[in-house]
Amino acid sequence: MTEKDPLRARLRSLAAGAPELSAAASVYGEVLPRVRDADFRASPLALSLDAAEGLLSRGRPLLGDPLPGYDAEGAARLQSDLEAVLAGGGVGGASSPDLLEALSKYAMRPAYRRWGADAMALFPEGPRWERGACWVCGDPALLAELRGNVQARRLRCGRCAASWGYPRLACVHCGNEEPSTRGVLLPEGGAETSRVETCDACRGYLKAIVTHDPVPADLLAVVDLETLPLDFLARARGYERYPR
Ligand SMILES: [Zn+2]
Ligand SMILES: [Zn+2]
Repeated sequence: MTEKDPLRARLRSLAAGAPELSAAASVYGEVLPRVRDADFRASPLALSLDAAEGLLSRGRPLLGDPLPGYDAEGAARLQSDLEAVLAGGGVGGASSPDLLEALSKYAMRPAYRRWGADAMALFPEGPRWERGACWVCGDPALLAELRGNVQARRLRCGRCAASWGYPRLACVHCGNEEPSTRGVLLPEGGAETSRVETCDACRGYLKAIVTHDPVPADLLAVVDLETLPLDFLARARGYERYPR
């Protein structure tokens, strides 16, 4: 964790450019590098290509119950580290139930990242999967990436960091493709690198960013924070991130 740590540098520049996000950026600055650097082992995703294709063809994500083995002590250690650093760091303390729940999810991230990477290696060309929820772990998509010159749409999972293709014009929540009920909101100032895609059929939204390369797994949470103004914009118009 040096001065040149790209994760911390990116959070510092976020805080400098958006003072209203600096408190959140300082919490992330404590949490995310510890999650990334945790010494915490997880068993590989032990699935053959056939077995994995079988699950996906039945609409089931690869990780089910039970999960592959993981170092539960390492996860508990990471969680108590995160609680301790937030309690001692003057950032409000790790006492609220919501925060504790969030930290317990962060404490499992190293395991999910490993399984996500294993799954991506199993399907280098991408999986056959046309759903808005992650094909590896089942979490709802965190955001969409519009990649390259053709802006191919790839969804990203915030938990395991897997990616997958999804029809460009369809709503990730309900599949609606009717152009008259699909919309785009652009951030104030009109930067062309991020936007919100909305759906009037389910009142859901999804953030999308234009990027040349996939966002590295460690930076997904940072990009999510950087684009928080888009969440406010969408919610102010009555859209929900995870509509029922
Ligand atoms: Zn996932
Ligand atoms: Zn929808």
